[in-house]
Amino acid sequence: MSMLAEARTSENQLASYAVNEQSAGGRQYEERTPEFRSQFQRDRDRIVHCSAFRRLEYKTQVFVNHEGDMFRTRLTHSLEVAQIARTVARALAINEDLTETIALAHDLGHTPFGHAGQQALNTCMKDFGGFEHNRQSLRIVEYLEERYFEFRGLNLLFDSREGILKHCSAEHAQKLGPVGQRFLNNTQPSLEAQLANLADEIAYNHHDVDDGLRANLLTVEHLLEHPLFSNLYASAKKRTNEADSRRVIYYVIREMMNHFVVDLIKTSKNRLEQFAPGSVGDVRAHGAPLIGFSESVDKEHLALKQLLRRELYHHDNVLKNVRSAGRVVNELFATFIQNPELLPDHHLIGNDDGCSSVAEFVADYVAGMTDRFAMAEHQRIFQINYFAEP
Ligand code: MG
Repeated sequence: MSMLAEARTSENQLASYAVNEQSAGGRQYEERTPEFRSQFQRDRDRIVHCSAFRRLEYKTQVFVNHEGDMFRTRLTHSLEVAQIARTVARALAINEDLTETIALAHDLGHTPFGHAGQQALNTCMKDFGGFEHNRQSLRIVEYLEERYFEFRGLNLLFDSREGILKHCSAEHAQKLGPVGQRFLNNTQPSLEAQLANLADEIAYNHHDVDDGLRANLLTVEHLLEHPLFSNLYASAKKRTNEADSRRVIYYVIREMMNHFVVDLIKTSKNRLEQFAPGSVGDVRAHGAPLIGFSESVDKEHLALKQLLRRELYHHDNVLKNVRSAGRVVNELFATFIQNPELLPDHHLIGNDDGCSSVAEFVADYVAGMTDRFAMAEHQRIFQINYFAEP
C-alpha cells in the first residue's frame, strides 16, 4: 500500500454519518491538497504547532499552575479529552482526526486562572460585547495566530471551526457567518463535535476527582456519596490492603471512566442505528444530539458534576484563588485600557485589519497570558502578589 493510500485508509472506513473529505465544509482560503495527510490530519497538526496550544501548559484547569507539578493543566486536560474522544470516534466509525482536532483546540481561548479569569474578563468586557472562551478559541484559530503569508489564523476546515465554537449566543452568532448559523436555526453540529464536547466532560469529571483528592480538598467520604464511586470503592477495598490506598483511587477512577465511555459508545451506537442518519446533513437536521449517555448514566454523570461543584470548585482554598485571579485580571485589564502604550504592539491598535477597539486588543492580550505571565506582569506593575497573601 502506498503512503498516500495508507493515510487515506481511516477515511475509507468512516460511516456515512461521519464528516469526510467530500462532505467537509472547506477552508476560507484555498490551499494545495496535502500529499501525505488528510485535510483533517492537517488541521490537527496545525493546532499542535500553534503558539496558543503551547501556552495551555501554563494555564489553570482547576489548580493554579504554581500549586504543584502533579495537577492537570489545560494542556494535559486537552490531551485527556483527545484520548477519550479518539477512542469513542473509532468505535463509532466517525472521523477520529476531526474529533481530535476539536478536542485539542477546545480550550485554546481560555484566560489565565481558568473560569475565574474568564468571569473577570467577561465583566471587564461587558460594555464591549463580553468575553467568552469558546468564541476566543475560534478567534485564535481564525485570526490571532499569525503563521502564514497568505492569511491570518490557521485557515482550518469549517468542520473544525464549527466544533470549536461549542456555545454561542444568538447575538454573537449573527456576526460569525456560517460557523454561527447553527445557533440561529437550532441545528446540531457534527457527531465529531458532539463527541468532543462530552469527552471534555468525562475528562474533567474524573481528573478533578483525582486532583481534588491529591490536594486534600476532596475526601473519600465526600465521594462515597456517589453510588457508583461507593460501589467500586467497596469492591476495590476487598482486593487490597490499606497501604494501597492510591491504587484503590486509581482503580475506582479508571473503572468509572470506563463505565461512562462504554455507555457513551453503546448508547450513541444504538441511537445511530435507530435513526440511521445517511449523511452529516441528516445528523445536523436531527432534533437532538445523537451522541450521548443513556438516561441512568446521564444522571450519574450529572451527580458527579454536582458533587465536584459543591465540594471542590466551591472549596474555600479554590475560591481564595478565584478572588486573587479576579483581582489580577481586573487590574491588568484596567491598567492596559488606561495606558495602552504599555502593551506590546500597541501601535497596531485600530490598524490591524479587524482588531479595531482598544478593549478587544487588551482582552486578546490578557486572555492569551499564561498564569505565571499574568502574575509576573501584575507584580511588575503593582509590586504585589495576591496569591501569596495568607
Ligand atoms: Mg475543557
